[in-house]
Amino acid sequence: MTVKKAQPGELDPIETASRDEISALQLARLKWSVRHTWDNVAAYRRKCEAKGVHPDDLKDLADLGKFPFMTKDDMRDNYPFGLFAVPRDRIARLHASSGTTGRSVVAAYTRQDIDNWAALVARSIRAAGGRAGDMVHVAYGYGMFTGGLGAHYGAERLGCTVVPMSGGQTEKQVQQILDFQPDIIMVTPSYSLVIAEEFERMGLKPEQISLKVGIFGAEPWGEGMRAEIEKKLGIDAIDIYGLTEVMGPGVASECIETKDGPVVWEDHFYPEIINPETGEVLPDGAQGELVFTSLTKEAFPVIRYRTRDLTRLLPPTARAFRRIGRIFGRSDDMLIIRGVNVFPSQIEEQILRDPRLSGNYQVIVTRDGHLDNLEVRCELQREVSGKLSATDVQQIARELQHHIKTIIGVSTLITVMEFNAIPRTQVGKARRVFDERPAQR
Ligand code: ADP
Repeated sequence: MTVKKAQPGELDPIETASRDEISALQLARLKWSVRHTWDNVAAYRRKCEAKGVHPDDLKDLADLGKFPFMTKDDMRDNYPFGLFAVPRDRIARLHASSGTTGRSVVAAYTRQDIDNWAALVARSIRAAGGRAGDMVHVAYGYGMFTGGLGAHYGAERLGCTVVPMSGGQTEKQVQQILDFQPDIIMVTPSYSLVIAEEFERMGLKPEQISLKVGIFGAEPWGEGMRAEIEKKLGIDAIDIYGLTEVMGPGVASECIETKDGPVVWEDHFYPEIINPETGEVLPDGAQGELVFTSLTKEAFPVIRYRTRDLTRLLPPTARAFRRIGRIFGRSDDMLIIRGVNVFPSQIEEQILRDPRLSGNYQVIVTRDGHLDNLEVRCELQREVSGKLSATDVQQIARELQHHIKTIIGVSTLITVMEFNAIPRTQVGKARRVFDERPAQR
């Protein structure tokens, strides 16, 4: 594989179009998308009516600012299929990711949606330097999570040889990479370092590993981590961004020639940055919350979906579209632990299933090497505190650990403490989450 800058002929024409052409396409598609959602999603139409706006009010792109936001709460309130805009029998696939209250967010795709998604992931892999004929090792999880299948269809669409390895089984991953000699790996950045360490343990040097490019996303990472991954695996590390509600991976992706932030595929997604407190639209370059409107999605259109991701919009460089900067935080309390979205409220819900535990708890996130560790400290109720045997207490911890693992999908270390062991806050909201991971640069 020769990693190379895309030649103009290799790109989709819109990737190098003028701003006027892009805006014209966006406006036409935006009008279709808002009208389609209004016509077919009753919950959205009600929100528009409550705000006194109608699809006919959309005369230019800036008019979108008059329309109501969609949030994770809308997804929860309309769980599972209430926001879908096509009849069930037109839905070709469902995916899901974690929601705020234990209910997941369900995403639907028509055949056309799957086709567009594959095309955008193929475009993303090409932006990362991949070409037809390359071998792509996919180590994102397969299943309801959008990572594995999203990457898979995109790599196939580009004409690559796909190795659908999925996550886990590090020794097997590494052996397979050595045996099959893939050119590209698609995986979470944190897990790529676990793989890199396994190579180190085997005494292998970066130049002995066939990989040339890694396409990493699903969790925040920074330039420090990029440098480390590139050095340890001897590759170019490229950032891919996405979220289940908007599509999955491939909403935005970085170009190998510039590595200056994911390019938003603006022909399919219209980005805005807003002030998370007031909802006001901010100019390009300002930091705020990223909001997306889908321009072509049929089954599950989103209009002004608040991602809660904090970042900024940057001017075009390697492509005609705008880019997003690093995701530097979130405007809600969602944690991303080893690529899994976790809300403290979901943990609380599991703790409260056991009547012997009080609602006082703390969630402590640390990073050990490259992997995130999640510790949950909880407390016995006053009535049982000091009265249970050590075996009983261990059993409580085991059960909680099991529930969190099966329902939320993350492994935890559980510490069950006596009543009152967790400090109470005297004023304001209890501080429940202690994220002690080093900040991403
Ligand atoms: P994904 O398949 O991308 O993990 P989820 O819906 O499970 O989809 O999670 C989406 C969230 O993951 C995003 O809102 C964002 O917070 C985070 N995320 C995804 N990709 C990136 C990335 N490249 N950099 C930082 N955060 C990311």
